[in-house]
Amino acid sequence: MAARSASLTIAAMNTSTPSSSGAQGAGSAAAASPASGSQSATSAASPASGPQSAAISAAAHAFPRIAVLATGGTIAGTATDAANTSGYQAGVVGVERLLEAVPALSSVAQIQPEQIASIDSKDMALALWTTLAQRVNALLASDDIDGVVITHGTDTLEETAYLLHLTVKSIKPVVLTAAMRPSSALSADGPLNLLNAVTVAASEAAHGQGVLVAFNNRIHSARDVVKTSTYAVDAFQSPEVGALGWVQDGRVEFQRKVVRPHTVDTEFVIGAKWPNVEIVVSYAGVSRIGVDALVAAGVRGIVVAGTGNGSIHASVQQALADAVSQGVVVVRSSRVGSGHVMRNGAASDDALGFVTAGSLNPYKARVLLMLALAAGGTGPVALQKAFDKY
Ligand code: ASP
Repeated sequence: MAARSASLTIAAMNTSTPSSSGAQGAGSAAAASPASGSQSATSAASPASGPQSAAISAAAHAFPRIAVLATGGTIAGTATDAANTSGYQAGVVGVERLLEAVPALSSVAQIQPEQIASIDSKDMALALWTTLAQRVNALLASDDIDGVVITHGTDTLEETAYLLHLTVKSIKPVVLTAAMRPSSALSADGPLNLLNAVTVAASEAAHGQGVLVAFNNRIHSARDVVKTSTYAVDAFQSPEVGALGWVQDGRVEFQRKVVRPHTVDTEFVIGAKWPNVEIVVSYAGVSRIGVDALVAAGVRGIVVAGTGNGSIHASVQQALADAVSQGVVVVRSSRVGSGHVMRNGAASDDALGFVTAGSLNPYKARVLLMLALAAGGTGPVALQKAFDKY
């Protein structure tokens, strides 16, 4: 779906009294968005006119200009019953309605909303990744935008975040957020997550930190963050290394930095062509059928989610060795969820021609392998360098 944009100034009318933003901010947002209640919510807001609008737009420029790109997810989900937090439809509430639910945004940023997609992120597609990454790069290349926030489903958020971490060509902040409870739920977590994401994107401290995920008051690096719960509102963690920092009540604090290169320091650019890379899992009693079928289908790479330290059932390991001999790249990762996979540890990678994923989980390892192959990477030695670097 092509991106549709609307210019919506949710900027403060009450710059001198930001703490009173509740009522005034709500009025400001409502005035800016007559489409309130519309679920498509992509029409442009009516521009105000006259002296008051001049005052509004002068005030607006005092705030960082943040593009909010909506893609769907539970944050944009609704259920028929407010007590229902699992049986709902994801990705049906439009970006302007999401913003209207957060009047306090008017004290933080001038928002430019854009509906990129309206999907459940379980259905994230490679073509949409291309659209999203290209749009983020185009927005950040403009002097009119200071940062980008992306609302996303939680299911594949860590994959999208890592993809952008490697392909955004700007040091301006890019912050993803999401929700575990639909917008209709009692104690919905989306509105505060959105406010916190915009607060982080609007902060000076977020520049040059790579792509970030703001969730449940914590700020995570896209490289490390993973979804670790099917239902808890504290669903995102950065195993082993922890969050980068936190955001609360308008305050943003970073406590550590990501040391691996990202964004402007990678060789990766987003393109429309994606090499076919799939994931297989090793488990008790697994056969080689899956690997053989993928090789027959012509995949360029296979990431194996091994047991423990990336160990692989003998039948699958033989199938993967056969795949390597046919020119398929094999990356050995772990299904465990934290820790790292040691090269030449649980398998003889040098002899087998495998690459190891280090601390990337299988899903992020797939993202890196696709980008490395698209950038012309070939052979386990060169590809291992990419995994050791990023
Ligand atoms: N299935 C939803 C999605 O990923 C889950 C969520 O957003 O929490 O879009």
